[in-house]
Amino acid sequence: MRHRRGAPGAWRCDTPGDAPCERCLLPHLETVRQRVRAGEPVVFVLPGFPCKSPNPAKVLGVLPDRAEQLALEFLDGLCARIREIHPPGARIVLCSDGRVFSELIDVPDAHITAYQAELGRMLTALPGGALSLFSADDLAEMRGEPHERVRAWLDDHYGESAEELRAQVRADAEVLRLYRALTRFLFEDRLTPERTESRSALQREARRRAYGVIGRSRAWGTLVSAHFPEAVRLSIHPQDCGSPKFGIRLSARGEDGWLTPWHAVAVERDGVFALSRRSEAEAEGARLVHRDGRPSHFVATRTVPPARESADRPLAPAARPT
Ligand SMILES: [Zn+2]
Repeated sequence: MRHRRGAPGAWRCDTPGDAPCERCLLPHLETVRQRVRAGEPVVFVLPGFPCKSPNPAKVLGVLPDRAEQLALEFLDGLCARIREIHPPGARIVLCSDGRVFSELIDVPDAHITAYQAELGRMLTALPGGALSLFSADDLAEMRGEPHERVRAWLDDHYGESAEELRAQVRADAEVLRLYRALTRFLFEDRLTPERTESRSALQREARRRAYGVIGRSRAWGTLVSAHFPEAVRLSIHPQDCGSPKFGIRLSARGEDGWLTPWHAVAVERDGVFALSRRSEAEAEGARLVHRDGRPSHFVATRTVPPARESADRPLAPAARPT
């Protein structure tokens, strides 16, 4: 609950003080209890980690970098802490969903494949070994099929009609928030110098594609729930009180708003990492660090003028995430 990602106001719930909200626990508690009683690991599924944003103003490239590494370490560490109180521990299955909407977000399938492969390598190197990867490429019934066929199959089996989606966006505050955030991302990702369309044309196009992405995301979520019936469904998006999905942050700090590791770069300031757009990190003069021959993250120097600071007071120790 400490790392829960609630919708604005959701923390108020119906509960006094810091006590966990009964209504928020209810959809998940029995699933967790069953696993604990059976002496088995608690399983979480988390759709996300699709691919890097195609916008070079936001990210460093196609492959997961330090931004993803930090999120993976945080989630792996969360499972380690669950293991301290429930020895069989917990597992998180990352349900990488880039394949299911690659054509809607202008990311070639080859980039999705490369991202997933590198993410898989990063997972296996984690100390707790609690994370694994699941993607549309793992669907037994779709093995060896072209990627377009997989997306068509998903639409056929789990898709909703355009009317149903529009009704969802109108009726459900959480879906509406997602729609607005996606529209913004999709608009920004095409707002590159080589684009010749007007802003309003790009905006219209972003709204159309946002519906498409929401449709595929929902279809993917339904498939994931059917595939992992005994898992607690996590979400990277903020959730309302009592939601069947449990919103989870991807860092202990949890101050990154709508930024995700795949829409951003990691920036280290005084030993503390945060997410930022690549363009913002560069604008503040942060230094790019390479790992294994690839761009990894930025290191920013302090923004307070050093002469004045050293004269007035000693450097305060950096607040570290707990
Ligand atoms: Zn609640």
